[in-house]
Amino acid sequence: MPNYVISPPPQVAVPVSGGGLFPVRRVYCVGRNYAEHAREMGHDPNAEPPFFFSKPADALVLDGASVAYPSQTANFHHEIELVAAIGTGGKDIAVEDALTHVWGYAAGIDLTRRDLQAWAKKAAKPWEIAKGFDHSAPIGTLVKASAVPLPLRGRIELKVNDEMRQSGDIADMIWDLAHVIAELSKYFELFPGDLIFTGTPAGVSAVVKGDRLEGTIAGIGTVSTTIS
Ligand code: MN
Repeated sequence: MPNYVISPPPQVAVPVSGGGLFPVRRVYCVGRNYAEHAREMGHDPNAEPPFFFSKPADALVLDGASVAYPSQTANFHHEIELVAAIGTGGKDIAVEDALTHVWGYAAGIDLTRRDLQAWAKKAAKPWEIAKGFDHSAPIGTLVKASAVPLPLRGRIELKVNDEMRQSGDIADMIWDLAHVIAELSKYFELFPGDLIFTGTPAGVSAVVKGDRLEGTIAGIGTVSTTIS
């Protein structure tokens, strides 16, 4: 046993459909990866390559658990996203090899303090307080990649209190999953246990205490949480 001077933090892990736990190392996220969402945020979807930010692994919230309305925001948004779980690491991964690095998939929600993000953009400040806060990443059960068809198309939707807010198709990603992995691996060496939130379709909106969020990605799974 290492001589830790305080107790080490627990390993964050996501349940896998059929049993087992996927241990999480890092959580990467792609900004602005669906054209309609880029437009609703006031950007030209064709103007730039994908860009990345991170959330801490312990920001993950397992399926069905509630999320306390966070401090320091009055505009708390949902973003439903396809999440890819890396099973084989690498750097400078080629686009044509990229999908072989994926162990599995899940539906996730990139919760965002939109008012702080808007401030950060305007003030040219980092996004951490807008994106990487505690409990900002609900995630559903992982499915093994070999058990499902490649998620290259399919509905990606999010309802709040049974009302449809986001409804898109994975095929509408500006940068598909293979390109996202290849590009990310130019900046960071990827390792088994890394998760990648791949961006959200249009329809992001504010939620309040008591709201029930239910996300669905066809062929992959669901994710749900209640704001408490
Ligand atoms: Mn997002």
